[in-house]
Amino acid sequence: LRSLLKDASLLETRAYVGGEWINADDGSTFDVLNPARGDVIAKVANLGRAEVARAIAAANAAMKDWAARPAKERANIMRAWFNLMMENQEDLGKILTAEMGKPLAEAKGEIAYGASFIEFFAEEAKRVYGETIPGHQRDKRITVIKQPIGVVGSITPWNFPNAMITRKCAPALAVGCGFVARPAAETPLSAIAMAVLAERAGLPKGIFAVVPSARASDVGKEFCENPLVRKLTFTGSTEVGRILLRQAADQVMKCSMELGGNAPFIVFDDADLDAAVVGAMASKFRNNGQTCVCANRIYVQAGVYDAFAAKLAAAVAKTKVGDGLGEPVDFGPLVNMDAVDKVEEHVADATAKGAKVVTGGKRHALGGSFFEPTILTGVTHDMMVTREETFGPLAPLFRFETEEEAVQMANDTIFGLASYFYSRDIGRITRVQEALEYGIVGVNTGLISTAEAPFGGVKQSGLGREGSHHGIEDYLEMKYICLSV
Ligand code: ADP
Repeated sequence: LRSLLKDASLLETRAYVGGEWINADDGSTFDVLNPARGDVIAKVANLGRAEVARAIAAANAAMKDWAARPAKERANIMRAWFNLMMENQEDLGKILTAEMGKPLAEAKGEIAYGASFIEFFAEEAKRVYGETIPGHQRDKRITVIKQPIGVVGSITPWNFPNAMITRKCAPALAVGCGFVARPAAETPLSAIAMAVLAERAGLPKGIFAVVPSARASDVGKEFCENPLVRKLTFTGSTEVGRILLRQAADQVMKCSMELGGNAPFIVFDDADLDAAVVGAMASKFRNNGQTCVCANRIYVQAGVYDAFAAKLAAAVAKTKVGDGLGEPVDFGPLVNMDAVDKVEEHVADATAKGAKVVTGGKRHALGGSFFEPTILTGVTHDMMVTREETFGPLAPLFRFETEEEAVQMANDTIFGLASYFYSRDIGRITRVQEALEYGIVGVNTGLISTAEAPFGGVKQSGLGREGSHHGIEDYLEMKYICLSV
């Protein structure tokens, strides 16, 4: 991997704590694997609670000066960080592909997407406005100011090793918070590379820390029990989100939770079918189906069911699976063998209950964690794919008759992150977008993520929003000041 990089110093394996590059106190490391080849690409510092506590203390100390600076000064440093990320997009993309598996073009896309949050929130920092409110008595003046919440602890998953962190650290740093990032143990290298560039950009020592650790629950406990941490931000499964919310309750800590999804993708009879196929390919198969907004259940109205299935199969047939660092491909490997087992389990369960494999359905001839992009027809609501996120390249096609039935089935889940539908009838579009119980609705599009929009879920998909001017509020506290004159 080192030999593929223009700037090999981006491939750092130590932790970044208090503005210093450190190893674990006990010298321990954990292995990072390349999922396409199965080989160990790095041994990364495996921090424990003591080092995480030091990162938190340093972030807290650094906040005093950082938060006091004019927003414009913070913004300029963040802008420099954004520029460095874009200048190093190719190298950052290669590191990301090597540890996570997504094709290089997608990895570079993620770097640009991730960096866009730093650009956006650097600008937004200048617009953290307070409020004045007419007083309730002759002598009273009411003002509201907004202040950084304090040190933020962050726990993120492997599916977007760069962007999941920037979505959180960009608003936090922009308003003056200290930030301690614990990246997923599968993908720490992208996070550490960001820290290399943060240091170069001139972020003050300590304000941004990366604490790689294979001991996730220890780090989670330190974040929840350390009184200097004022906010926990997490992206991952609903299951782990619940554990962290319970732990955070002891300190009544503010939490942002981006949890699981189970996105419905509805194709109505009146849809532009070709556009719906393009949208389904993007929504279902991006990142090999490993995103929390990936279409998990595809509902197709009876009149276009067979035609849609045939067109989707034709689109899948044109795709290529392979090593993301080799010749251009559409699909890399899945992140690990557990992911493969899950897709296999969903396919086996569905076919046992009567679903039919249109294409794919099994491990790919390339071996390892490669899996064939798969389409199932005849899928019904008693199958596992209905309730659980597959998080893999499996497109299950459900058939429905009426609009009412589609909406009812789409909402029949504990999750409420992203949803999608295709229709050309303005009345139907209006009814369905209002009826879907989701934080995000894509209408005639399969791609919804952008720094400008508020990303987040309802029901058990989470708390809070990331991105947009709303995303900055999660890192601010308001203070009401009552002045008697
Ligand atoms: P995913 O399937 O995307 O890995 P998880 O919810 O299992 O989703 O993991 C998301 C992140 O949370 C990962 O970085 C993981 O290491 C971390 N994690 C898992 N369990 C805990 C825990 N008990 N406390 C803190 N972090 C955890």
